Amino acid sequence: MTQPEREQRLSLADIETLARDVLLASGVSLAHADTIARNVTAAEADACRSHGVYRLLGYVRAVASGKADGKAVPVVTQTSPAIVKVDAGRGFAPLANEMARPALVAAAQSLGIAVLAINNCYHNSAMWVDLEPLADAGLVSIGLTAGQRSVAPHGGSKPVFGTNPFAFGWPRPDRAPFVFDFATSAVARGEIELHQRAGKSIPLGWAVDAEGRPTTDPALGLAGAMLPFGGHKGTALALMVELLAGPMIGDLTSQESFAEDEGRGSPPLGGELIIAFDPVRFLGEDAADHMARAETLFSSISQQDGVRLPGDRRLAARAQSAREGVLVPTRLFDELQAIRSRG
Ligand code: NDP
Repeated sequence: MTQPEREQRLSLADIETLARDVLLASGVSLAHADTIARNVTAAEADACRSHGVYRLLGYVRAVASGKADGKAVPVVTQTSPAIVKVDAGRGFAPLANEMARPALVAAAQSLGIAVLAINNCYHNSAMWVDLEPLADAGLVSIGLTAGQRSVAPHGGSKPVFGTNPFAFGWPRPDRAPFVFDFATSAVARGEIELHQRAGKSIPLGWAVDAEGRPTTDPALGLAGAMLPFGGHKGTALALMVELLAGPMIGDLTSQESFAEDEGRGSPPLGGELIIAFDPVRFLGEDAADHMARAETLFSSISQQDGVRLPGDRRLAARAQSAREGVLVPTRLFDELQAIRSRG
């Protein structure tokens, strides 16, 4: 029988300091270390473990391999009033997002709709972290990024797509925004990796082995192909994400990103696309009335027994983590401490 993993409790402040120290010890610039540390701390706070401190190992690997530039300074340009572009210079997405966000918000507020295209970035984080600040600025948004090929199309067994997450954010008056965010694979790849580290099997339906047979073994699934969520519908969405965050913005497909990595196990290099809408610019003085109608819609969902809105689990976890801190697997904590002590 699998032994439960040993864990230890850390405050969110300790998590953020640990993350920053680990990144600085790995040769990442302070600007990247700060934004990534806030990003993984937000994921830990919201109990999104697959994108919490575990991801630091991927960031460190990417820099150590020489593939990612941990000191890259993103360059923000505006190629048309509605299009903000960032060349992340093979650096990490959180800093590119943070630097370009003011221009995206200003463009959306001025025009009603604007897009942010981030190129040449390593995206290793949860997408909701990129969209929540836009909702806090009153904007509705859609976020997409491709990955490294690991997911087979519906009916197939050879990986073509990345886990290609799709996220949507909607501001809500006087409360946290509505943000849903999901991989178009049955589950995020990090979730399978965490099962493997914990010696746990995975549910059927997450992956097939290299011969295309359904498997509950995380190692066989990682070596084979992950499966899309929702059969042909998930596959179509994965393809849309791939097209919009890849060729549409002049960036890599998941197959190209996989080839570019040359088996080093870095996070995916590629693009991210965010589309932002300003309800006030669309609706003028009627905006508040229409946003109130959205609240009626939310209520008619969440008032039903046994139903919750996407994001409710995260927000409940956020309140609990602020009080109690979070649990981190001891083995992972020790690995991170070892990297930190190199600094
Ligand atoms: P989940 O399947 O855990 O959750 C997907 C969404 O559905 C969340 O918004 C979640 O809300 C909501 N949800 C889950 N269960 C319910 C329910 N019973 N009722 C209502 N809503 C529900 O996410 P994934 O495993 O697909 O993805 C996890 C993360 O991985 C995402 O943040 C994604 O961005 C990230 N990712 C990032 C990649 C990258 O390249 N950077 C690649 C792939 C994934 P809640 O959170 O409140 O449970």
